[in-house]
Amino acid sequence: MTILAGQLLLAESPNQLELRPGFVRIDDDHIREVVEGELPRSADYLNPNALICPGFIDTHLHLPQFNMIGAHSMPLLQWLESVVFSEEEKWADASYAHKMSTQVYRQLLSVGTTSFCAYASVHHDATLCAMELAHQTGFRALIGQVLMNRFAPKSLCPSTNQLIDEASKTIERFPIDKQIAAAVTPRFAISCTYDLLEAAGRLATQASAFVQTHLSETVAECRQVSELFDGARYVDVYQKSGLLGTRSILGHGIHLSVSDRKVLADHECKIAHCPTANTFLGSGAMDREALETDSVTVVLGSDIGAGYERSMVRVARAMIETASLRQNKIPSASSAWYDITAGAADALGWSDVGRLQSGCRADVLVIEPDIKWIDSPVDPLSMLMFAWDDRWIKRTYLRGQWRHTEDSR
Ligand SMILES: [Zn+2]
Repeated sequence: MTILAGQLLLAESPNQLELRPGFVRIDDDHIREVVEGELPRSADYLNPNALICPGFIDTHLHLPQFNMIGAHSMPLLQWLESVVFSEEEKWADASYAHKMSTQVYRQLLSVGTTSFCAYASVHHDATLCAMELAHQTGFRALIGQVLMNRFAPKSLCPSTNQLIDEASKTIERFPIDKQIAAAVTPRFAISCTYDLLEAAGRLATQASAFVQTHLSETVAECRQVSELFDGARYVDVYQKSGLLGTRSILGHGIHLSVSDRKVLADHECKIAHCPTANTFLGSGAMDREALETDSVTVVLGSDIGAGYERSMVRVARAMIETASLRQNKIPSASSAWYDITAGAADALGWSDVGRLQSGCRADVLVIEPDIKWIDSPVDPLSMLMFAWDDRWIKRTYLRGQWRHTEDSR
């Protein structure tokens, strides 16, 4: 049993979080009790200036791309060809994928990410390896073998039959109700023939699996999709392929029309907004207000390695900055913290993570800010988000196990 006492970050109402003094009691791998009020002297950890909060959720990242962050000055399609594919080819060697996933998971825990949705590579063995390791480490995650069969080096373009056969084996091994679940993951419409998209849609429907893909990230990409699919709109290509549904997580969604947003809302799709990646590749600034006005759910992702920020707190901060740039209604810091914790969990239908709540997995962070954040004239959650320093994360608990300490950074 472990008792952590400090300022608790609690999800008391939709879209907002509240700070309350109190403690959480962890037993085995779950939170068993959350008590507001006086901090018990007998706690294993007691610090009235510490933030105790749920682990962060990153809804869009690429496992093979952590070693190529920072390849800048290129638009999306050129960036894919010049730097991404050569990195992903290295995953043909499953032992390389294992080594790299070990490093990536360590990095995620060091920035407080305890749940995530990830693209692996087109390689089946490497994908399984990354999934097994995520399971052993204790993460809550969706991971998908990337499906693509064109506009990439030959070695990254297996046949449609092979890809679908492997993806369906991955789902059998990691079904939807497991802590690590397989997601059907066509890279994006450009890199998939229509028969691959359709087969992916069928597989996702049959298995009730999550779908991950990219949508409308850049204007040039939208134009190419239209050329490749007989003038169809990007969203319609996915709709016709059966890839849109309540478990579809679509990266970016920047260049969308009113009718596109309606299709996404009708299918209850989720848009994974990745503001740092969008700035980095010069893709555009997503109109969050328009999406939310049209009832499309937005979640947040780092999109490593187009995104350069592994910290979801800084991604959330970039989301606020993008909203400000677009002259959208500016989200509060409280709602931004909600986005990377309870909000992401709700959007994914994960009721066991994202909250300090009895019965949830004990994925908990102990954060010691070195600034005066309590009793300050500034909203404390805003101050923490804008002054954020990863070194404040003193402990990361994953399923009740203390897996990261600041000293190990
Ligand atoms: Zn991406």
